[in-house]
Amino acid sequence: MKHLLISCLLLFQVSGLLAQEREYVLLVHGGAGAMKGIEDAPEKAAQYYAALDSALCIGDAILSAGGEGPQAVMAVINYLENNSLFNAGKGATCTSAGTFELDASIMEGKDLSAGAVAGVKTVKNPINAAYAVKTKTPHVLLAGEGADRFAKAQGLEIVDDNMYFATPKTMKWVEELKKESKKNGTVGCVVLDKQGNLTAGTSTGGMFKKQWGRVGDSPIIGAGTYADNEGCAVSCTGHGEYFIRHVVAYNLSTRVKLLHQPIEEAADYIIHKELNTDVGNGGLIAVDKDGNFAMPFNSGGMFRGYLYKTKGSGKVEKAVGLGEKMTVF
Ligand code: ASP
Repeated sequence: MKHLLISCLLLFQVSGLLAQEREYVLLVHGGAGAMKGIEDAPEKAAQYYAALDSALCIGDAILSAGGEGPQAVMAVINYLENNSLFNAGKGATCTSAGTFELDASIMEGKDLSAGAVAGVKTVKNPINAAYAVKTKTPHVLLAGEGADRFAKAQGLEIVDDNMYFATPKTMKWVEELKKESKKNGTVGCVVLDKQGNLTAGTSTGGMFKKQWGRVGDSPIIGAGTYADNEGCAVSCTGHGEYFIRHVVAYNLSTRVKLLHQPIEEAADYIIHKELNTDVGNGGLIAVDKDGNFAMPFNSGGMFRGYLYKTKGSGKVEKAVGLGEKMTVF
């Protein structure tokens, strides 16, 4: 018993020490899902890995220079929204009406400030509109036409036509809406910056063939996105209705903050036990203030990447992956 106690104590000290060695951490996801067809097509998977790697590099350049979390999260998500591989911004999936309605949110852990937009149709980069809601209004969530108009008034880039978000692939879906097809690729980013603050952001086109007007978990603070310096920063991806019901992002942050559960243990519990794996498919990325992180998923795969800098050594560790295994650089 005594030995067990001592080893537990040692383990605690070592993990505390390890965590403190992380100067900054950036995690990114590009959506979770069945991933059928991608794992078997290495050249296709390579495209996603290259995009995730570019996203990590963009964030690294900002964080290594002392940039703050929101700056890194915004830059990474802008890049992923502009990359049509992912279900966010250009390349987003369509509604049952064949239109594109986009959701995004961002939250800072140091003061719990948050901003989100739901169902925007003309904002080129919805994450920028979410940030503007956070910084320029007393509100947290703007939806529909009001959100589009607000973004325009803020001078954000607006697209002339909702079809800007279409790609040849999504246009095919628009034309054949009855054919079962899916697009996975919501994007998200969570950061622990050098200042010790946490930030989380998420952006999506939502679920394929969603009823127009439907809002998923991504723009709902507490469901798809959450950040609290005393808990953790979380960005989710998957079947949004279940993430809303289980208030997944807040649930995880609160387990870390109040129950003092290790982030990996708490995240695994929510994703593998609380969410019904038959229907509540998806995953999340999360980091706490000590730089511990988790990236669990209960779906076939989840595009994801991590990057962290170890204090003192200057060494940056980086990896991207889709299934269980990740490729370390
Ligand atoms: N969670 C998103 C939603 O339900 C979709 C996704 O992550 O793929 O809108």
